[in-house]
Amino acid sequence: MEDHDRDIQITTSGYLKVKRGAQLKQQFCPFSYVGSSEAMIPCGDWCPLFGEPFCTSGNEVRIDLCHGHTIWCPKDKFQDLRNKED
Ligand code: SF4
Repeated sequence: MEDHDRDIQITTSGYLKVKRGAQLKQQFCPFSYVGSSEAMIPCGDWCPLFGEPFCTSGNEVRIDLCHGHTIWCPKDKFQDLRNKED
């Protein structure tokens, strides 16, 4: 089941954050795990498999990620802070 009702943010530096519980949390690339979660690389627009967000014909924003995975959220729960002042 896909969750279409969560907050998603792309930070000023292009990192992906998704609301988990009450907090927006940095998402990390599961393919960067090498035995320690502290060494994991954040997921973000630096990755060639990270799609640019686009608005659907409905009221949602869609981001295509690696391995055919897609995340969605309502437009009013999406923030793209890139190209804005820190
Ligand atoms: S899009 Fe996929 S491969 Fe790229 S950083 Fe995010 S989780 Fe990793």
